[in-house]
Amino acid sequence: MQIKTKRSLLPLFLMICLSFFACQNSKKASDNKSFNPEIKKQEWAIVLHGGAGVITREKMTPELDKQYRAALQEAMNTGIKILSEGGSALEAVEKTIRIMEDNPLFNAGKGAVFTHEGKNELDAAIMDGSNLAAGSVAGVTDIKNPITAARCVMTNSEHVMLSGKGASQFAKEQGLEIVPPSYFYTEKRYNDLQKTLKREKMGTVGCCALDKNGNLAAGTSTGGMTNKKYNRIGDAPIIGAGTYANNNTCAVSATGHGEYFIRWTVAHDISALIEYKGLTLIEAAELVVNDKLVKAGGSGGVICIDKTGNISMPFNSEGMFRAYATADKKEGVFIYKDEK
Ligand code: ASP
Repeated sequence: MQIKTKRSLLPLFLMICLSFFACQNSKKASDNKSFNPEIKKQEWAIVLHGGAGVITREKMTPELDKQYRAALQEAMNTGIKILSEGGSALEAVEKTIRIMEDNPLFNAGKGAVFTHEGKNELDAAIMDGSNLAAGSVAGVTDIKNPITAARCVMTNSEHVMLSGKGASQFAKEQGLEIVPPSYFYTEKRYNDLQKTLKREKMGTVGCCALDKNGNLAAGTSTGGMTNKKYNRIGDAPIIGAGTYANNNTCAVSATGHGEYFIRWTVAHDISALIEYKGLTLIEAAELVVNDKLVKAGGSGGVICIDKTGNISMPFNSEGMFRAYATADKKEGVFIYKDEK
């Protein structure tokens, strides 16, 4: 009888042991899930990129290296000013990207790459993490600042994405600056860069920001891939692929081989890993860029920021023009892989 009782208690005892260990493990797992508590919550933060690709010291001249760093710093200073004075993440993202669109060093706006037919077709998107509002333009040829057009699509139209002639017409109606398509061509810059970068033209631009109200925003602007054909559209204007923001998770802007970023829905994948799997920003971004994308053969990188101001800038290419700043006065501008 006694033995019988012991036997019947054994499964119960085992169950108690198992649930004790399960509790311990799930506690550990949930510890990993939380945003890193050691990192002081930032009042505001900003991160930006100027494109990823075959960017090595050997391919850069010291002069060009200096120019890119100065350009990233100048753009970032615009965002820092807006955020530190209490401006919105959305405003910081748009204005920071506009500076880079106006700089021919980058493959966005003024410095956009050429299509197979020798034209410039630009894509851009912006997203507001506070309400998941988003706007984008694709394949536009005469809007001086596509990122501003994307913001107008978001705030002043009932649509998310406008393309080609329709997007231009909308931009005109919004009073945005329209330029002749030749505006996007600068011969000297074009030839200089082609020579220096051995026909590799990279420099899509993007920015993510967290503002003092805890709102996140992301934006991306690009000329797309050199030699693109048939009005090809990349990942930048596709919400969830090259651009995404959600106050509950993170803001992401991508750069790289768009066809991969679209199919692997890179920006939203990072957000989803945080939302549904409890990964930290850094874990999620690393997993997508340096594991999933690498296995798929998609080169490039992302910049991202979460609701506490954590920043991640992973890339699997040789280099990525990138910069960040936080309210506690940490900042940096980087180009090559070995820079931290
Ligand atoms: N992602 C861009 C595109 O595929 C290009 C780039 O970031 O370099 O259009």
